[in-house]
Amino acid sequence: MDLHHLFDRNVAWAQQKTRDDPSFFVRMAEQQSPKYLWIGCSDSRVTANDVLGLDPGEVFVQRNIANVVHTSDMNLLAVVEYAVEFLRVEHIIVCGHYGCGGIQRVFEDKRSALVDHWLQPIVMLYRKHRAVFDALDAATRLDRMCEINIEMQVRRVAAVPTVENAWAKGRDLTLHGWIYGMHDGLLRDLGPTLSSLATRDALVSIDQRVLDPVEPSSGVRRHAIEAFAALGEPGPRNF
Ligand SMILES: [Zn+2]
Repeated sequence: MDLHHLFDRNVAWAQQKTRDDPSFFVRMAEQQSPKYLWIGCSDSRVTANDVLGLDPGEVFVQRNIANVVHTSDMNLLAVVEYAVEFLRVEHIIVCGHYGCGGIQRVFEDKRSALVDHWLQPIVMLYRKHRAVFDALDAATRLDRMCEINIEMQVRRVAAVPTVENAWAKGRDLTLHGWIYGMHDGLLRDLGPTLSSLATRDALVSIDQRVLDPVEPSSGVRRHAIEAFAALGEPGPRNF
């Protein structure tokens, strides 16, 4: 089977972009200058530009299964270095999503595929706190692990030497932990928000967060609640 239909869609897309904005591709051909680095899941439903409402050129992207930050992942480390040192991004957003298939697999005790090895940091966290997670019903347990995984990965980004060096130099660089709800298209700010070595070092451990799952009502959440209230619709789940 050929893929001509994808080329057809590409041509249609390029034509539409040019109609909407005749200088679009002229600008795109110049140097990119995104302000954000997005570290997200490979899930085909969670594309950074669409979720953020941004054009090409506005967000630098790294994606893998379950948005994991491995300390020896040369791909991710090079992306972080390039984004921070050369593109001078001001924000690194770790964004996972509810209903993540990678996270679900952690609960299934499968050990036969490379993906299970990839998910090992989450598996280890689950094993360590199995009693806490297994006390929850299946849906809540999945939601909770999707959230806690993001918090864990933000802590890991905060330990990457590139990020530590930027903070040591006083650079304006902030790390965020967000989660996307595919059921309503909305992002939630889970925290932590880290902007210095001091804020990172003051953070409670991920083990503590598992045992004490208190969530602040962030400005982003309040904004979404108000936006849905204005539409006369019930608030989305998880608010
Ligand atoms: Zn996922």
